Amino acid sequence: MGSTNEILTGNAKLLKSRASKLSIAGVWISIGAIIIATITTGYLQANEISLESVIEAQKNNASLWLLNTMPFVFGFWGQYVSSMIAFEASAMVVDQTNDLRAQAAVFEKQALRGTTYDTLTGLPNRILLVDRLEQAINTASFERSKIAILVVDIDRFKDINDTLGHSTGDRVIRQISQRLRKIIPEPNTVARLGGDEFGIILKKFGTKEDAAEVVQTIKETLQVPLKLEGVRLDIDASIGITLYPEHGKDAQILLQRADVAMYQAKQKHCGFIMYTTTLDRCNTRRLTLMGELREAIINNELVAYYQPKIDIKTGKIKELEALVRWKHKVHGLVQPDDFIPMAEQTGLIKQLTLWILHESLMQCAKWNDEGLELMVSVNLSANDLMDIEFPETITRTLNAHNVSPEKLLLEITESSVMLDPNRALEVLTNLSALGVRLSVDDFGTGYSSLSYLSKLPVSELKIDKSFVMGMENNSNNTVIVQATIDLGHNLGLEVVAEGVETASSISLLQPLGCDTLQGYYFTKPLSAQEFNTWRSQNIATGRIRKKGGQLYMMLPEK
Ligand code: C2E
Ligand code: MG
Ligand code: MG
Repeated sequence: MGSTNEILTGNAKLLKSRASKLSIAGVWISIGAIIIATITTGYLQANEISLESVIEAQKNNASLWLLNTMPFVFGFWGQYVSSMIAFEASAMVVDQTNDLRAQAAVFEKQALRGTTYDTLTGLPNRILLVDRLEQAINTASFERSKIAILVVDIDRFKDINDTLGHSTGDRVIRQISQRLRKIIPEPNTVARLGGDEFGIILKKFGTKEDAAEVVQTIKETLQVPLKLEGVRLDIDASIGITLYPEHGKDAQILLQRADVAMYQAKQKHCGFIMYTTTLDRCNTRRLTLMGELREAIINNELVAYYQPKIDIKTGKIKELEALVRWKHKVHGLVQPDDFIPMAEQTGLIKQLTLWILHESLMQCAKWNDEGLELMVSVNLSANDLMDIEFPETITRTLNAHNVSPEKLLLEITESSVMLDPNRALEVLTNLSALGVRLSVDDFGTGYSSLSYLSKLPVSELKIDKSFVMGMENNSNNTVIVQATIDLGHNLGLEVVAEGVETASSISLLQPLGCDTLQGYYFTKPLSAQEFNTWRSQNIATGRIRKKGGQLYMMLPEK
């Protein structure tokens, strides 16, 4: 491409040659005018047209002399003006060309930025993170230094999005990204990997402890509540960590392993986990399990476990909560946290709910036949609450096992209601009209609106076990439990404390007015057969009394 000067000179030449042609035409016209004027003057003076009369006219007529200069004047003037016009026009063209070029460069830059930066937060995206990680690995291998790679995933972000809307979700992501950018200075990198997931490269790391320290700072920074339109949001995150060169020498592998560690941290609710090879085995197991679950439901590989819910005043076993387990040929007893989330993702949860309903109602009927008036509670997922035909399914299942609706309690979570509150309300109202009782599970962990809670036709509220288990060591948890019990009672609900592991937690719950207890203190969830054995053994030791069709558990002395 030629320089600006070359373009300018080229354009000027082109325009000048066109303008010169016009000025030459002007010269010819003025020469024509001289000839005509000279001939006319000669004729008027000598009354004839001859060479002599023309020469005479030119000799004696001053106005013709003036006219004679016109071609030269035209020539010069034309040349000068055309040169000026040509130059200015050319300069304008060059200016515009430069403007267009500058704009093109800006667009090019924006397009490039769009492919490497996240538009919502302005942070580098996954592509740029991988690129920077590759560069960092090259440098670190040369300098023999370490790098830490972190994958940070916001806990229960889906609830924020579902409850408060996507624009609030976007603002939360933007604020989190600003906080992360503030505490992770250059030359480290903070990137948004997508959704609520961030990737961080920490350069020149000495030890695992150094990385853990930064992770702690990140967690503390994120835990400072966010304030959005007067709503206070408590944010927490799960973090997976890998180290270069210990956990891999390739950028993609390091990131993938940090992701595996993050997933485990989320599952275990433990804040952060450093990658180990055993985690990979867990991840592979998770993926194979996902493919096998459908078959497992059909082949009856699922087992229902039951955990009693006990009246705090009388010790009566009010109900048994049915909790699913998967008896896997290779992995043994798989816990629900390992497959319920993926059953929800794949839509298999509908079949799973149907299975546990049939299983627990069949068992309920069996106990009733044996003279035990036990009721059962079953956990529902968001998919069930979105299914307008779900109440009909419940009626059919109750009829199939000849169990009356009052014997069944359905546990729902706040977040599953908030997914589509109007639809959930319709389904829950129809369920309640059948005579089935409803309970809000894991209360305090979701972002539900209290005005919605008061509209729900529920009769029970279960305080999440994290608050109950934390009561003994943290008085804040006692305050939360007390407030939740009062709230539940004011709404006319019975309040259950789950996660009751010790006698001392019962003595803390008693004065707070809690109605029902559930937890390892009484028993872990048991299969129906194990429950029957446990019941008989405890009746034998006097820990359980059987009165009428009811079972009563001994409570610790006040
Ligand atoms: P959840 O409904 O809140 O059930 C209570 C969980 O807390 C159970 O875990 C139970 O074993 C555990 N737990 C009870 N008492 C204690 C205690 O004193 N200490 C401790 N540390 N834990 C206690 P589990 O059985 O692993 O179930 C976990 C979650 O999986 C359930 O939480 C429920 O949300 C879900 N889940 C289980 N079965 C089903 C099901 O059939 N359908 C659906 N949709 N979800 C299910
Ligand atoms: Mg439950
Ligand atoms: Mg619960």
